[in-house]
Amino acid sequence: MKIVRTVNELVTITDALKDNNKKIGFVPTMGYLHEGHTTLMDESKKYADVLITSIFVNPLQFGPNEDFERYPRDEERDQKIAEQHGVDILFMPTVDQMYPQDSTVAIQVKKRTEVLCGKSRPGHFDGVATVLTKLFHLTKADFAFFGLKDAQQVAVVKRLIDDFNFSIKLVAVPTVREVDGLAKSSRNVYLSEQERDEAVHLHKALRTAQQLMIDGEKNPVMIIEEVKKYIETNTSGQIDYVDLLSFPSLNKIDNIDQQIIIAVAVQFTKARLIDNIIINENGTVPKVII
Ligand code: AMP
Repeated sequence: MKIVRTVNELVTITDALKDNNKKIGFVPTMGYLHEGHTTLMDESKKYADVLITSIFVNPLQFGPNEDFERYPRDEERDQKIAEQHGVDILFMPTVDQMYPQDSTVAIQVKKRTEVLCGKSRPGHFDGVATVLTKLFHLTKADFAFFGLKDAQQVAVVKRLIDDFNFSIKLVAVPTVREVDGLAKSSRNVYLSEQERDEAVHLHKALRTAQQLMIDGEKNPVMIIEEVKKYIETNTSGQIDYVDLLSFPSLNKIDNIDQQIIIAVAVQFTKARLIDNIIINENGTVPKVII
């Protein structure tokens, strides 16, 4: 595995790879790698000749009162994990490498962001789209792998790729969970022991909602209320949002008659956790999402 820290070196390498007709798979991350990330890496091996993973905690996608400074970081451990999962090129740029001077141009995401995390985190998806635009150019990826744990990100990136004509196939990978159902996340380390026990109820609340749909419930308001009640009863966290929307267009709907997402965000003392499920109108899980 080659560790690359500068934009120039990465471009030299990816130019050569393209000259040799190599298919490039790309897994963007913010590091503190866990099985959610490594599943994306393993998936890339099925599609591409070469795997590039980036580790970059992107300041543009954090709000002023968010956890940019204390986002967990462990370069050495990440390097070992990446190597074990067949990463060929690990791109770990500094902020100066990615944003060398005051930027003049940034991407603005105009749809799919007025709800869920986009609503709670203004500017977040502009930051995501801006850094990905740069990373897509630098890596020259043919395939890019994203986790459905961040389903709104998948919905936004799909349109970034389509609208800006990137020749990249987005592969969306199902959420990887702990044995008890908690979605794996770098931020889980910031849960207290009690919160860790409670956090499993985010997933359980979503499963309860799914069961309601299997039983024939078509009213989003009923389902949202049940999910809220479940989380309030079973956790000490503060609900940021619970919503049910069409997926991937992320529109509000009055009646469940299409593929939907039920998404939650809950603020615990030191970690804000998100989770979601994407299901068909009858409550079954779609085989292919996006
Ligand atoms: P992050 O480092 O949190 O920015 O995540 C990098 C990529 O890993 C994103 O595409 C995430 O959606 C994905 N990811 C993070 N956690 C999980 C998970 N539990 N299951 C699947 N993908 C995940």
